[in-house]
Amino acid sequence: FQRPSTLIANSSLALRLLRCRSLCSRYTATRASKEPLLQSGPGLQHFLQDAALQKKMQQSDLSNHFGKSVFIETRGCQMNFADTEVVMSILTKAGYRIVSSGQEANIYLIMTCAIREGAENKIRKKLHWLSNLKQHRPHTVGVLGCMAERLKSKLFDESSVVRVICGPDAYRDLPRLLADADSGQRGANTQLSLEETYADVNPIRAQPESPAAFVSIMRGCDNHCAFCVVPQTRGRERSTPADAVADQVGRLVDGGVREVTLLGQNVNSYRDVSSAGVFAAGRTPGFSAVYAERIGGLQFPDLLDRLSAGYPACRFRFTSPHPKDFPASLLQLIGERPNLAKQLHLPAQSGSTAVLQRMRRGYSREAYLRLVDDARAAVPNLAITGDIICGFCGETEADHEDTLELLRLVRYSFVYHYAYSVRERTRAHRLMKDDVPEEVKMRRSAEVDRVFRDIASADNQLSVGQRQLVLIEGDSRRSADWWRGRNDQGIRVLLPKLPQSAQRIHQFDIRVGDFVAARVDSAGAQTLLAEPLAPVPDGPAGFASALAELDSSRPLPA
Ligand code: SF4
Repeated sequence: FQRPSTLIANSSLALRLLRCRSLCSRYTATRASKEPLLQSGPGLQHFLQDAALQKKMQQSDLSNHFGKSVFIETRGCQMNFADTEVVMSILTKAGYRIVSSGQEANIYLIMTCAIREGAENKIRKKLHWLSNLKQHRPHTVGVLGCMAERLKSKLFDESSVVRVICGPDAYRDLPRLLADADSGQRGANTQLSLEETYADVNPIRAQPESPAAFVSIMRGCDNHCAFCVVPQTRGRERSTPADAVADQVGRLVDGGVREVTLLGQNVNSYRDVSSAGVFAAGRTPGFSAVYAERIGGLQFPDLLDRLSAGYPACRFRFTSPHPKDFPASLLQLIGERPNLAKQLHLPAQSGSTAVLQRMRRGYSREAYLRLVDDARAAVPNLAITGDIICGFCGETEADHEDTLELLRLVRYSFVYHYAYSVRERTRAHRLMKDDVPEEVKMRRSAEVDRVFRDIASADNQLSVGQRQLVLIEGDSRRSADWWRGRNDQGIRVLLPKLPQSAQRIHQFDIRVGDFVAARVDSAGAQTLLAEPLAPVPDGPAGFASALAELDSSRPLPA
């Protein structure tokens, strides 16, 4: 016996099930072979429409996957590491168990990068290795992230071991794809979304013991630089609502996190359109974009202001920004707020205006150098890191010399540099010739490396004897007798657990997650060795007084 209302509810559920089946049939292509191939899956809107149904399906269809073990290998950028934590949360909620070794896992997922051919080839090697495993071979292998998005179901043709392909905006669909794989199907969902930010997913931290954490605040890229595949693999720009970002930061701080790095493909293009009010941060003077300036919504300087004021005992960094979105208000805020790290990543890509124009970067060498000057004027003791692509289409020796000269003028503390690798479906692939020989690209890349390291090493030498603020992150990877930390400029600092000198300077307990004042005793190109001097009290007063008393850690450029 059923009450009429229950019958109505059940018949409406049946109708929705039918609707769902017809919906799914649009995405499901059954092959004549024993291995049906799911070409793609439903997008976010279908999950929103059928949230109740989704819950029922999770409870019934997926219940037999409780306890299945999943290992996730993460390659590529920090966004991928943040996405791994989102995937861990989604799968844990669906009953899967995350394990820390591939050998223990029924399911082996690889979070991939597609930025260069070399990154993809490493994934191909890994898939080949997995397919040849004789022992501990996982039941299901899945490819997630940018390479999955770029190659889509072509990956099934490339590697027979792959059962699941899931793009960056489809992670909510992973439990369904894995359940299908378990029943012998192969499935792919590479649908990109205009809205997906995973704002309601509380990521599970991959390294819960670390006092430093990532928070992803925006996804996608609308810039379409000529060389870059990211707009194709990550889709359009969209931002997590500011309230959701603040909640996530609050949870992390409550859990003991002392440093948060805000993440996004263009993190400073953040714009929360769900927030009331009209704010216009404005572009960096002299910079342009392929799209008109966007007015309205809560923008990055406002978010950074809110977070750094709301969580004064936490240090904030952000990456990766686009140089076009550094209005004066943002630089001023970083200069004034003690808990905003004095480090900026300013990806130049080239020091030649002609190359920058071909890359469609939206700025000249001169405009970039003006931004560097403005940033250094607004933010005392600023460290700048950068990206350089060596051997882009048509790059001459003179262009390359311009880039080396740019390195000398900016005095980067670190440069991520790459030999240009042509990517399909980019403007450069369609319209330009990859005409710089591979050995020339490699030689130029080596020269960039040598020049920036010499400069970073010389600048770091100037910090010997200075007192700096360091967050203790854990044991040194080389020796458990040393702490590993990071200073305000993002440079790695190693500190002895026992006093090194006869004066026995540090007489206080140090724990992971402490901020300490430390004196730099020696310096290499990328690492400082320092003696801890004193603990730094929590909160804004602690930061402010510590920074006021500490010496500058980097010289201003001449
Ligand atoms: S800004 Fe340019 S380089 Fe950066 S992700 Fe977007 S397209 Fe790629």
